[in-house]
Amino acid sequence: MTTNNSAPNIKSSPQHAAMDQFLIVDNELQIGGLPLTEVAARAGQTPFYAYDRALMSERVSSLRQQLPDAIHLHYAIKANPMPAVVQHLAQQTDGLDVASLGELRVALDTGIEPQNISFAGPGKSNDDLTAAIAAGVIINMESAGELDRITRIANETGHRPRVAIRVNPDFELKTSGMKMGGGPKPFGVDAEKVPAMMQDVFARDLDFQGFHIFCGSQNLKAEAIIEAQTNTFELAQRLAESAAAPIQWLNIGGGLGVPYFPGEERLELAPIADNLDKLLSEYHNSFGDSEIVMELGRHLVAEAGLYVCEVVDRKESRGEVFIVTNGGLHHHLAASGNFGQVIRKNYPVCVGNKVHPTSEEDQELVSIVGPLCTPLDILANKVTLPKMQEGDLVVIYQSGAYGMTASPQGFLSHPAAVEVFC
Ligand SMILES: *Cc1c(COP(=O)(O)O)cnc(C)c1O
Repeated sequence: MTTNNSAPNIKSSPQHAAMDQFLIVDNELQIGGLPLTEVAARAGQTPFYAYDRALMSERVSSLRQQLPDAIHLHYAIKANPMPAVVQHLAQQTDGLDVASLGELRVALDTGIEPQNISFAGPGKSNDDLTAAIAAGVIINMESAGELDRITRIANETGHRPRVAIRVNPDFELKTSGMKMGGGPKPFGVDAEKVPAMMQDVFARDLDFQGFHIFCGSQNLKAEAIIEAQTNTFELAQRLAESAAAPIQWLNIGGGLGVPYFPGEERLELAPIADNLDKLLSEYHNSFGDSEIVMELGRHLVAEAGLYVCEVVDRKESRGEVFIVTNGGLHHHLAASGNFGQVIRKNYPVCVGNKVHPTSEEDQELVSIVGPLCTPLDILANKVTLPKMQEGDLVVIYQSGAYGMTASPQGFLSHPAAVEVFC
């Protein structure tokens, strides 16, 4: 048995990353320079999502400052397809990535050049492909069958489609929240089948742009992203050797995460940027004239968004306090833990109209639940917060991505949430 003279080892529980992106004035959270209660009045109802346009702009400009100039930044709309958000980011970024016909329409409505829009996603229908071809966007082809249908539509309509091959890589993004490449996958064309598919693309005289290599999402480990990006360039180089023309466009994916849960910290960008610099010079001969794209969804919008609901009831049950709100998993599936989490963890949460307790006695341990008749409807489990009463505003941070449109709003027929962009 070993002894230890140091202070008792009090194992502090992991904390959420500091949610310091939103100002607090007079103990009230501010969004886009407005107090939360004003934003609520403007929304006209709770629950609502509120997004801060200045925070989104800051995120884009900080990425631009740190990443090499040659990297084009795209916004992947599925993270937050609110048209006003997409319009804003269309002006700040170099392009948009869409994954459905509905998203394609929103992207085209921003007025950006169609060649700066790319369309990925398995199971594109003939209507999807016809629209994408008519619009002139880059289609990231997911299979040989899709190539055949694109060719047929091109022949029928007289267009020359812009196409890229989405590659299912022969490596994985390690420690990713959601793996989307490596092994057998419904996404993309297996790397080993790409050379043969390229021959077909050239034989059919389609406008071949290059490759889309996306391996995963929600990664907070710089080393894992560095490794994936290094592998991505290496794979793209191998594939480019069997292409009949130079690669004009190379989408190296994204995967940059944001901290949601206790113990998670914001991603360190500097080593990723350094490695990209290195890769760009190493592969200058192959890709020096190509447009190199990084596609980011949540990293651009998640931290700029809040979900806000209102306390309806406070009740005690066998020694525990439950705060019941008018919002829950029907609006915010991810915060409830039912959007791909294995072990439920809390998103960062606060009481937006009184962020800090006024005294020791002014706080209590509570669980915050929604109005749905299911035990899955939890917004925060056992958190210490200022004492709440009816009408107080519960705020879930990190809610600008995969929020409203990633939630089953029809479940239990409660009113829908609304969105405001401040
Ligand atoms: C979902 C998706 C993204 C965005 O992922 P984030 O984690 O939100 O950055 C990017 N590219 C493709 C192909 C996707 O399917």
